[in-house]
Amino acid sequence: MNSEIHEGGCACGAFRFRAKGTPRRVALCHCMTCRRVHGSAFGAYAIFPRDQVEMSGALKTWESSEDGRRHFCPACGSVAYMEFVSRPEVDLPLGAFDETGLFEPAYELWCVHREPWLPSGARPEYAEERTA
Ligand SMILES: [Zn+2]
Ligand SMILES: [Zn+2]
Repeated sequence: MNSEIHEGGCACGAFRFRAKGTPRRVALCHCMTCRRVHGSAFGAYAIFPRDQVEMSGALKTWESSEDGRRHFCPACGSVAYMEFVSRPEVDLPLGAFDETGLFEPAYELWCVHREPWLPSGARPEYAEERTA
């Protein structure tokens, strides 16, 4: 694993993170919860091992499902990260990184809710959860 550090944070700067190395996977999610929390057509995440990410700043948490936790900045409302409590991983939104062009999604999930004007066929697509 490389030791590159990629930093990012929320829109107001109260929350910051430092992610070390390369993500385990990079996903683009069209599920209704990602659409709503981002207020956008989809959510895109770089998924890192929990112990590779350092964070600072106070967040609020919403239980989006039995296993899902959505963390956001109470000052500016930005999505900070999401996680599944059963997995030792942190899903960092691509748009929260300071740099652009760092990571490209390798697959798309919940394509049943994908906006019809988005291009398709660029990467593996799953109708719902990733199955492979
Ligand atoms: Zn903020
Ligand atoms: Zn989603």
